Amino acid sequence: GQPVLAVVGRPNVGKSTLVNRILRRRAAVVQDTPGVTRDRVAYDAEWAGRRFALVDTGGWEPNSSGLRAAVSAQAEMAMSTADAVLLVVDATVGATETDEAAARVLRRSKRPVLLAANKVDDERLVADTAALWSLGLGEPHPVSALHGRNSGDLLDAVVRTL
Ligand code: GDP
Ligand code: MG
Repeated sequence: GQPVLAVVGRPNVGKSTLVNRILRRRAAVVQDTPGVTRDRVAYDAEWAGRRFALVDTGGWEPNSSGLRAAVSAQAEMAMSTADAVLLVVDATVGATETDEAAARVLRRSKRPVLLAANKVDDERLVADTAALWSLGLGEPHPVSALHGRNSGDLLDAVVRTL
């Protein structure tokens, strides 16, 4: 079948918005309130002639107390079911402890992992994303899922990886 890309990360970093940007339609549910994304919804995606399945995760986001464990579990699940994993972080916040916990899980993966630094709505924020190299997942890809900024570069990296 098609290669599977799973999108993981904390609630509210923009996973569903990014999924919709990649799909070029509003299929994934975007909410200001964390935790509403349904469990592992897979969509048919395509970029540069490559077709792949795109999995929006986040269905198992409970309250903030169990957040770190939940996001780590989400990352574990993604690794076991996907061919590649895209960790999304909020570049306007930087790497949180939850992001670091997820990155720790993903670094153990034999599967390729890509890092998206989302909410880079303004080119001036790009320089700040260099700090995200500290997550140990390679190059942070600055994007604005909301405005589409640099999403093509991220997708080029995705299809190179899949
Ligand atoms: P998820 O919980 O990770 O799936 O996040 P959502 O996609 O539901 O987005 C959470 C909030 O972040 C929504 O209010 C989005 O509009 C907002 N958001 C998503 N991407 C961006 C972005 O690139 N820039 C800005 N400024 N806001 C964004
Ligand atoms: Mg979501």
